[in-house]
Amino acid sequence: MSDASPPEFVLTEALDREIAAAAGTVAKARHVVALTGAGLSVESGIPPFRGPGGLWTKYGEPPMDGYQRFLRDPAGAWRERLNPSAPWAKALGETLAAAKPNPGHLALAELERRGHCAALITQNIDGLHGQAGTKALLEIHGNHHLLRCTDCMTRFEPSQVPVDPDQLPPRCPECDGVVKGDTVHFGEPIPPDVLRRCYDEVTRCDCMLVVGTSATVYPAADFPAEVARRDGAVIEVNPDPTELTPLATSELRGPGGAVLERLLHHVLLAGEGGRA
Ligand SMILES: [Zn+2]
Repeated sequence: MSDASPPEFVLTEALDREIAAAAGTVAKARHVVALTGAGLSVESGIPPFRGPGGLWTKYGEPPMDGYQRFLRDPAGAWRERLNPSAPWAKALGETLAAAKPNPGHLALAELERRGHCAALITQNIDGLHGQAGTKALLEIHGNHHLLRCTDCMTRFEPSQVPVDPDQLPPRCPECDGVVKGDTVHFGEPIPPDVLRRCYDEVTRCDCMLVVGTSATVYPAADFPAEVARRDGAVIEVNPDPTELTPLATSELRGPGGAVLERLLHHVLLAGEGGRA
C-alpha cells in the first residue's frame, strides 16, 4: 500500500547505548505507560491519513463533520459503511483487513506481559496492539474492527450485532441504543470511558514511552506533557525529532519496530541483573 519503502535502518553502537540507558529507566519505573501513533502502523504497511503517501492526501479529505452527519442520518451512514463510496475508505478497509502486528507491537505486548508496561494508549484504529496481545489497551480513537453503542458505550464484535440492511441503523443488544462503528469520527468526542482511564493511567505514570507520534493533537498531547510536569521520564521513539522532543528525557532515533525490539532486550537484561 505504501508508496515509499522506509529507509534502511542500521543500529549504531551509540544508539544501542541510548536504548540500554532508556531500558534501565523503564526497568526501574513503577508505572510505565506507552503512547503510540501512526508511525508505528506505517511499519505494518498502513498509510497515514495525512502527509506524503497519506490516504487523504491522495484521495481528498473526508467531511469534517462526520459525527454530525451520523447523528442526522444514522441509516445513511450505515449504508455508506456497508458499501463505501469514498475511495480512501475502501482503500483503508482493504489495508486494515490485511495488516499484521510488527515487531514494535509485539515488543510492547511482551513488555506488558513481563510487568514493564501498565497500560498502552494508542491513537491508532487498526487494532494491531490487541492482535499482538496487549491487554491494558486504551484506543482513544476507537477500533476499526469493533462497533459501539452511542448510548451505553458497550463495544461489540460485529458478529454480536445483527445488521439488517432493511432496518438500519442496528440497535444495541443491551439498551436498544443506536450502534455505530467504534472509530471516532470527526466532530465526535473521545469516548469518555476511555478518556477517563487514560488520565487515571497518566496520573500514575512515571515513565512514558512515546512511539511513532508527535502527540500534538488533544488529548494525546496532554499525556506526555503531564508526565513531564510531574518529573517523569518521557522516552521518545521516532525516526525524526517532533514537536514533542523538547519534553523528552530520552530520544531514541529509529523506527519503532527495531528500537522497541532492542529496548525489550535491554529491559529483560536489566531485570536479570537486578535479580542476580
Ligand atoms: Zn447500548
